[in-house]
Amino acid sequence: MSARKLPLLEPLTEAFWTGGAQGELRIQRCNACGHWQHPPLVRCPKCHSANLEARAVSGRGMVKTWSVNAQPWQRGVDPTFIFAAIELAEQPELYVLSNVLCAPDDVRSGMPVQVTFEQQDDVWFPLFAPVAAA
Ligand SMILES: [Zn+2]
Repeated sequence: MSARKLPLLEPLTEAFWTGGAQGELRIQRCNACGHWQHPPLVRCPKCHSANLEARAVSGRGMVKTWSVNAQPWQRGVDPTFIFAAIELAEQPELYVLSNVLCAPDDVRSGMPVQVTFEQQDDVWFPLFAPVAAA
């Protein structure tokens, strides 16, 4: 069991870090214009509305770019992991930065992935696993 550094739960970010309890990846959406935004902001960057709400997304996306970490940053955590920008299916250039759960040699740009959650205390870390080719 790895021990990830827990994020601070704040009003804006809590939905993102706890949605996994219901199996949901929750991303902020503007109720005025429909724009998805991550990380969450206090106003929509498109229309400046403050009418924003965390909503469940499909959890599907693709690896846009990535790097493989080899530096042991934190004791007790396997230093070999893939840190990637996942472009969510809901909107172009809507990115979540996370880990991809596959061997470093197997990750590819454009690879379809699906969210999965790793719970630690009151946080559900959204991680991404490759989707098997149909
Ligand atoms: Zn908006």
